[in-house]
Amino acid sequence: EAWSRRTSLDYQDLQTILLETPDAGKAREWSEYYTSGPHLAGKNLTQALWTKERWQEFGIESTIVDYDVYINYPKSHRLALLEKDSVKFEARLEENVLNEDKASQAADRIPTFHGYSASGNVTGGYVFVNYGTYQDFEDLKAAKVDLKGKIALAKYGGVFRGLKVKRAQELGMVGVVMYTDPGDDGEVTEKNGNKTYPDGPAREPSSVQRGSVQFLSFAPGDPTTPGYPSKPGVPRLPVDHAIPSIPSLPISYEDALPLLKALNGHGPKASSFSKSWHGGGLDYKGVEYNIGPSPEGLTLNLVNEQEYVTTPLWNVVGVINGTIPDEVIVLGNHRDAWIAGGAGDPNSGSAAFNEVIRSFGLALQAGWKPLRTIVFASWDGEEYGLVGSTEWVEEYLPWLANSAVAYLNVDVGARGPSYKLSAAPLLSKVVQDVLLLVKSPNQTIAGQSVFDVWDKHISTMGSGSDFTAFQDFAGIPSVDMGFGEGPKDPVYHYHSNYDSFDWMDRFGDPGFHYHATIARVWALVAAKLVETPVLQLSTTDYATGLDKYIDSVKQKAKTSDFVLDENVFAPLDHAAAHFKFASTIHDGIAAQLLDDYYHADIPWWKPWLRVRLLLAIRNANTKYKLLERQFLHAEGLDDRPWFKHVVFAPGKWTGYAGATFPGIVEGVDEEDDVKVRKWVGIAAKIIDGAADFLEKE
Ligand code: GLU
Ligand code: CA
Ligand code: ZN
Ligand code: ZN
Repeated sequence: EAWSRRTSLDYQDLQTILLETPDAGKAREWSEYYTSGPHLAGKNLTQALWTKERWQEFGIESTIVDYDVYINYPKSHRLALLEKDSVKFEARLEENVLNEDKASQAADRIPTFHGYSASGNVTGGYVFVNYGTYQDFEDLKAAKVDLKGKIALAKYGGVFRGLKVKRAQELGMVGVVMYTDPGDDGEVTEKNGNKTYPDGPAREPSSVQRGSVQFLSFAPGDPTTPGYPSKPGVPRLPVDHAIPSIPSLPISYEDALPLLKALNGHGPKASSFSKSWHGGGLDYKGVEYNIGPSPEGLTLNLVNEQEYVTTPLWNVVGVINGTIPDEVIVLGNHRDAWIAGGAGDPNSGSAAFNEVIRSFGLALQAGWKPLRTIVFASWDGEEYGLVGSTEWVEEYLPWLANSAVAYLNVDVGARGPSYKLSAAPLLSKVVQDVLLLVKSPNQTIAGQSVFDVWDKHISTMGSGSDFTAFQDFAGIPSVDMGFGEGPKDPVYHYHSNYDSFDWMDRFGDPGFHYHATIARVWALVAAKLVETPVLQLSTTDYATGLDKYIDSVKQKAKTSDFVLDENVFAPLDHAAAHFKFASTIHDGIAAQLLDDYYHADIPWWKPWLRVRLLLAIRNANTKYKLLERQFLHAEGLDDRPWFKHVVFAPGKWTGYAGATFPGIVEGVDEEDDVKVRKWVGIAAKIIDGAADFLEKE
């Protein structure tokens, strides 16, 4: 047909290539490469170059984009339990070397430490603080447990680890020790009769979760350059509001046992303390989970020595130029890991990413001419605080603000069999459409798709991976997805040496079929966004989402003791109704345009009708593209101006979990009537403006 784009490969054939190319064996090879050596941020240049070379071989033009960022590397550490002046227990702070696990044997394996932790040498009594959530600390305050000058012993879990340190520091504590309690490992525990890794699927007792303790709620990225790119020579700000000033250490449950047991009989038992304080899973080892504080004379000595440097890190960025230059789909995955392995986090995603890019390369070779532009990004420095992606978004903001349609993130691509999705409402439909097309590796009924076996849960965008700068700072609708483990699956050794190739090969994704499957899903979502003449975003889903979020704000206000005038939320309801009206019409028009594109019988002697149609499509697409941007508030949220989105932000005291209407929710939490009204006003105005934007000619 004369009007269609000059391309020798139609959409069906493109889909076939993207479904048939990703290969489990190849993914296994890529995984083996990425997990064969340390690739901490700023220390992975060879892996950056290797990645660029592979992408070039696949036929994708690629470059390395570097930034000079402020990060830390571990120098030394100590954790000892002291009784008077004698050492009662010296923590090992090291993971076991296992014959069955090559990564655990690496000569240059990375010590257990926290990214962005403060150096320090502190000694003090200690308190078991449960998960160290804001509420946990409130419970301790209410019970008048003395926290000043003490060290917090916290379980991992619940909230982002940096926020545990932040709160402990605010309350005058002098250090934080975090451990992984097997009580949070689901059903596959030693206590339940499972063997521990490498003999079985339960947690290896010496495994330690490394990780960043940046505060996140302030801003991700290089803490010295909030809002602008860390190019050499730029001015740098002080960091005390962004990263801890008290030291912290991560430890294994094996190392935590003597510390926990020494609290037996001291202070209230966790299980009798407050509702979310159930204790943990080490009761079978003799832990009674008392809160403490530790008795007179029993103290912890915590030493953490970090070297802070400003060092280059390297993103690899590949581009396929489309016919339309200013409609861009960005795909990203981070490449850096805390450990030599990182088979799950992030290199299951990196291995799948190579398969995605190889597939698009083959499509190009087959003559495919993409309608829109695709950008592929292999981020560095995600683990320290989304550093590579954030600096890149900050640098290319003007271009992205004008051109970006969507950002598709895969961090951990596969570490179990359950598909997990977080998505901006605009994108949830396109992802679900694609899930129907991809076969699931596990099928209870022959032929089941990923969609069929999925639990259908879609999380809102919080934080914890590289989509954050796209969604919350630049207003680019984003998706984050991957295959994770359920409560009955082998325990994933997150940020530990045992997130290794050997673990993946035996327990996480034997056969690497989930690696290949996430590659197919990822590629097909990208292709549908790139190739459909009318952008496959759903404004109606955004409207439905807003209604839901408004309901949950009202619900929250109702259940809090803080009395608010009922009418306070009326402006939101009005604006949301307006937005619903505008979005329904917009999606309706867009569907009609797409139908016309394929089916309208336009006589060849009336070419202007075709031109008119294409212009109408362009107009509709521009509205889709820029809609999420309308939800940005230039001044940002209170106390965290970097976060600009009025609907989505990481929870101020959760980090990972997303908050919807964060300004209003914080106002309710803080029982601040003025703040609630202010943010209702801002949000209503923004929603109304977004509706106007959809309605304008
Ligand atoms: N994904 C990393 C983590 O959860 C980094 C998150 C962050 O710093 O925001 O530890
Ligand atoms: Ca920056
Ligand atoms: Zn990751
Ligand atoms: Zn990670």
